[in-house]
Amino acid sequence: MTALNNILLRQIARLGPMTVSEFMAQCLYHPEHGYYTGANPLGTKGDFTTAPEISQMFGELVGLSLAQTWLDQGAPAPFCLAELGPGSGQLMSDILRVTKSVSGFTDALQLYLCEVNANLKAQQAERLPNPIWIRDTTELPDLPLFLIGNEFFDCLPINQYVAREDGWDEVIIAVKKGFLTFGRRPAGAIETELPKAPAGTIIELSPAANSIAQDIAKIIAKNGGCALIFDYSSLDGGDTLQALQQHRKVDPLYDVGASDLTAHVNFAALSDTLTGVQIAGPDPQGAFLERLGITHRAQQLAQNLSGKALESHIMAHRRLTHPDEMGQLFKAFAITAIGAPTPAGFQQ
Ligand code: SAH
Repeated sequence: MTALNNILLRQIARLGPMTVSEFMAQCLYHPEHGYYTGANPLGTKGDFTTAPEISQMFGELVGLSLAQTWLDQGAPAPFCLAELGPGSGQLMSDILRVTKSVSGFTDALQLYLCEVNANLKAQQAERLPNPIWIRDTTELPDLPLFLIGNEFFDCLPINQYVAREDGWDEVIIAVKKGFLTFGRRPAGAIETELPKAPAGTIIELSPAANSIAQDIAKIIAKNGGCALIFDYSSLDGGDTLQALQQHRKVDPLYDVGASDLTAHVNFAALSDTLTGVQIAGPDPQGAFLERLGITHRAQQLAQNLSGKALESHIMAHRRLTHPDEMGQLFKAFAITAIGAPTPAGFQQ
C-alpha cells in the first residue's frame, strides 16, 4: 500500500466517503504523494506515451494549423501562445520550430505554460525560450489567445453519476474492511442538472475541465484566437475512469498516487458550458491529421530514412492516425470566437 493510501483511509475514517473528483485530486495533485506533483510520468519508460512523443509530425501539423488560424484572424500582435500541461516540452518545441517559417509569428508571440510538475518544468525550461509559467488559466494574459492542450483535460478530476429508476446516485470512495472501495449515495442538488436516463446510465462531469474551458473561452470571445484541445474520448459515455502504470491498466484504488488516473473527456458537456464562442469537433485525430497532410509529411520525412529508423517512422504514422491506434479514440476539438473561420484540420 502506498503512503497516500493510508492518508486517504484516515481521511475517510475522519470525514466520511469522498467523491471521485476529491479522490482523483488527491491521487494526482497531493503536494507530497500526487502522481503529477511527484514523479516524471512521461516517456516510453513512464506510464504512457503521447502523440508528440511518438513523432515530430504531430507538433508540426498542430503548429501549422494554429499559425494558419493566426493568419486567418489577421495576424494579431502581440498574442499569447499558451500550452496546458506541456510535458517534456516536445510539442511546443515542434510548434516553435515549424512556425519560424510563418512571417511575424515568432516575433509576435509571448509564451505561457501551465504546468504542475517541477521535473517537467525544468525540462520545459531547457527546451523552450523564455516561457512564463502560470499556475492556472485565470493567470492567462488579456491578449489574443492561441492555446494547445494535448492529454491535459483527461487528467482533470471528474465526478461520476449513475441513474436509478427514480433519480441519480453519485459514485463515492469509501472504506470497507480496511480497503478503499467504490460506493454510491444519492446525488443531491446536482440532480436537477442531469437528464432523464435509463437506470444504469453513467454520466461523468468535470467541474475543473469546465471551468478551465470557460476561462479560455472568455478570453477568446473577447480578444480572438483559438484553443486546440486533443484528448481521448469515445463520446458514448460510461465509466471511463482508468489507472495506468507502465502502459498497463491497473485498479484505480490500488497503488493510489503511483499510477496515472485519467478519464475520457466529455466534450459534449464541455461545449454545453461555453458561451460566446464557436466549437469545431470533436473530430477523430486521424481525420484531423489527414486533412492537414500528415501522409505527405510522412513521405517527405521517409525519404531521408532507412532501416530501423524508417520502420519506426512508419509505425509512428500508423499509431497517430490508424483507427485501431490513436486515430479514432483521440479527438481534436477547437474553440474560436463567433464568426472566425474554421481552424485548419476540421471539417469546414
Ligand atoms: N502534453 C504533453 C504531456 C501530457 S501529460 C504531451 O502530450 O506529451 C499531462 C501534462 O499535464 C503533464 O505535463 C502534467 O504534469 C500536466 N498537468 C496535469 N494536471 C495539471 C494541472 N492541473 N495543472 C497544470 N498541469 C497539469
